[in-house]
Amino acid sequence: MSVSRQELENYIGQYLRVSLFRDYCPNGIQVEGRASIQRIATAVTASLAAIEAAHAIGADALLVHHGYFWKGEAAPITGTKKARIARLISTDINLFAYHLPLDAHPDVGNNATLGQILGARTVGQFGEQNLAWIGEFDAPVTLRQLGARLHSMLEREPLLIGDLDKPLRRIGWCTGGAQSFFHEAATLDIDCFVTGEASEFVTHTARESGVAFVAAGHHATERGGVRALGAHLAEHFGLDVTHLDIPNPV
Ligand SMILES: [Zn+2]
Repeated sequence: MSVSRQELENYIGQYLRVSLFRDYCPNGIQVEGRASIQRIATAVTASLAAIEAAHAIGADALLVHHGYFWKGEAAPITGTKKARIARLISTDINLFAYHLPLDAHPDVGNNATLGQILGARTVGQFGEQNLAWIGEFDAPVTLRQLGARLHSMLEREPLLIGDLDKPLRRIGWCTGGAQSFFHEAATLDIDCFVTGEASEFVTHTARESGVAFVAAGHHATERGGVRALGAHLAEHFGLDVTHLDIPNPV
């Protein structure tokens, strides 16, 4: 089966409700390639390695969470940015990128898929554009147990800050680089906040508030969304979809 580039962009745009978000990058086609799409490669980031891997499997489109053209970045197409875009154009591969809409989607989003891994029942949201989620455990787990679960499910050892034996009942989370949400999270009625990356201040905020902090990996926590979206597109359009896991310890 195949789908036109435009039909695919229209469908994903509606499915992820792209128009509802104020984002820091364009969501949708970022670099135009061939008009007809049969095979899609998914990856967290549109790195040169992901482009080469997509080309190697004969992909017509590369679908990612982290694309290009971020607000505030230098506009000139030079250096690594030039090399990536030149390779996409020379291979005629379409680049589709979805950032906040893919974090937030209730079924295939990064937060939804991380929530399944955490094993928490979603009960609320907070933070800028309601991007962070709150959940409850039916049976409390300790920080140590939660760390072991994340380690095995995400195949990366998380950084745990807090009392490892304290039972956790309510938890907040937001995938990726959402450590700045910890200020607000620590004022809410939660026992732990999970995101991808850590900054120096989180140690002190965790100690002083008693709310534990977990950095489970930016890449590791954001593999779920693009994979789940790819699986959805494979089923909806009958397309051939392959996930490319380009290792990243951050
Ligand atoms: Zn991210």
